[in-house]
Amino acid sequence: MRTPRTFHLFPRLPPELRALIWTFHKNSRGIRHHLVESEHGRHYAAIDIEVDTYARTILTEAKTHAHWDGGGRPKGLEGDAKVRFVGDNYVSEVEDFAKSVVTARHPQLWRRKISLYVRFNYKWDVLFLAGRTSCFSPLFSLSLMRVAGRLPDLVAGTGGHWFVNVQHLALQLQRTGTGSTPGTGTMAGELDAVLPRMPMLKDVFLVVYRDPMCHWGPPRRWTVFKRAMLDGQNFLPVAEFIARHPDGDRVGTFCECDLDDGEAKGIKSSLQRSLPASVSVTVVADPY
Ligand SMILES: [Zn+2]
Repeated sequence: MRTPRTFHLFPRLPPELRALIWTFHKNSRGIRHHLVESEHGRHYAAIDIEVDTYARTILTEAKTHAHWDGGGRPKGLEGDAKVRFVGDNYVSEVEDFAKSVVTARHPQLWRRKISLYVRFNYKWDVLFLAGRTSCFSPLFSLSLMRVAGRLPDLVAGTGGHWFVNVQHLALQLQRTGTGSTPGTGTMAGELDAVLPRMPMLKDVFLVVYRDPMCHWGPPRRWTVFKRAMLDGQNFLPVAEFIARHPDGDRVGTFCECDLDDGEAKGIKSSLQRSLPASVSVTVVADPY
């Protein structure tokens, strides 16, 4: 429903139909952009959470010139911005819908692209970051991350990094007690260095670890799952995740899903101290 983005005949539609379409857009919960850094490199995929499928957000070279003005705003009064991922990126094809090449069924279909342009709606869309060594590693160089004072392009209003405009940010947490980086301390330190520099920020979703090989599958596949359990951005509140995750007491049903949200709540409290009260910080599970 989110494409095509421009509909010139809209004013000629009957008022009831126009009202219906406006209501749909008002309730639209946006696209989720997944940036995942693994040992294989950085992967980008987008999910249209309304229809639970792959979203076409990648702009071709021709389109970046034809449909976008010099300031990266789309021509034709649409609300989307054009963002650029520098360096190498692996992108999925429609045939292989997955959040990352790590979970893809046909990884050989993923293409390597340099300097990727993506359509991003700051008002609706969620940026979901999952890093192998650091929550921000899909975005920034790790050496810059370690020096909190040196994030020169993270300055709003100066044509700086597009990331400062993000309003809804989801961060994948590591599994509790694995001892793998980032530990809670590292993670909280990174967040304190970066998030207060994001003036548009409204939501931070701390996403608890879910075993990709879980016998029960993602929460939306559970028999007890109901869409009404999800929040405004289609995340599952962590209390629901823990309470409703099926028991692993049957032979062969053991999984490594994180059903202890203690560390996540620690990060949440630390963040709430460093962020304005207007920013909502919640611990959630990803139902997709
Ligand atoms: Zn599980």
